[in-house]
Amino acid sequence: MERVAPVNHIVPSLPAEPAEARARRLAERYAGKTAAGVIEAMVGCEFPGRIALVSSFGAESAVMLHIAVAVDPALPVIFLDTGKLFPETLEYCERLVDALGLRDIRRVTPAARDLLVHDPRGDLWADHANSCCHIRKVLPLKRALVGFDAWFTGRKRHHGGDRTGIEVFETQDGRVKVNPLAHWDRHRIDTYLRRNRLPRHPLEAKGYPSIGCVPCTGPIGAGEGPRAGRWRGLSKSECGIHLAARPEVSRPASAC
Ligand code: SF4
Repeated sequence: MERVAPVNHIVPSLPAEPAEARARRLAERYAGKTAAGVIEAMVGCEFPGRIALVSSFGAESAVMLHIAVAVDPALPVIFLDTGKLFPETLEYCERLVDALGLRDIRRVTPAARDLLVHDPRGDLWADHANSCCHIRKVLPLKRALVGFDAWFTGRKRHHGGDRTGIEVFETQDGRVKVNPLAHWDRHRIDTYLRRNRLPRHPLEAKGYPSIGCVPCTGPIGAGEGPRAGRWRGLSKSECGIHLAARPEVSRPASAC
């Protein structure tokens, strides 16, 4: 009698879809969706349990947080606390967490060893802002995003500069990056904050429409873009968390 070969029941797993292809597919599928619709689809269908929101708890952050919390109050929210933030931002973070009922806020800080080796005096920002952002923002976020396939940001085109052309779906370092508010302008943000009676960042009224770290943030003047107060005088307009990974920055000799 002919022997029947055992059937192999192991189904080979499909290779993971590259982030770039996934972002293109998502852009087609969700074209025209509202910000809330995009967030709902990402959290519920596309990346359940695999997506986080990264928030600076800055001047416009309450909008994204308010929309997201209505979809899922337990959505992980990553807050990069660089150790150089304004006390007003830390207080605002606590206020929003309470007001909105955020249930999974992840406050991420720089690695103690990185600070010890690269910035023992805490003044790396003065001469080496890119290196300072790298150890205080880029590397902590890289660690915080382990285990996630995608993340939400609150970036918008009206911020200007490199952000003018951002799309709702982008990719970075193998992950899908979702910017649900990409096309929202300042008027729409203000209207949303007012209609929903959301607390405002206390520095906004003092001329700070974009708020980062104390040493690298100032108020803007009449007619300036919203991010003109960031790294004023430097040829730098982004901290680096939205740039593709670059080689680890070694401590500059002049800062030793
Ligand atoms: S914004 Fe300034 S202080 Fe903050 S991490 Fe970057 S260089 Fe350092």
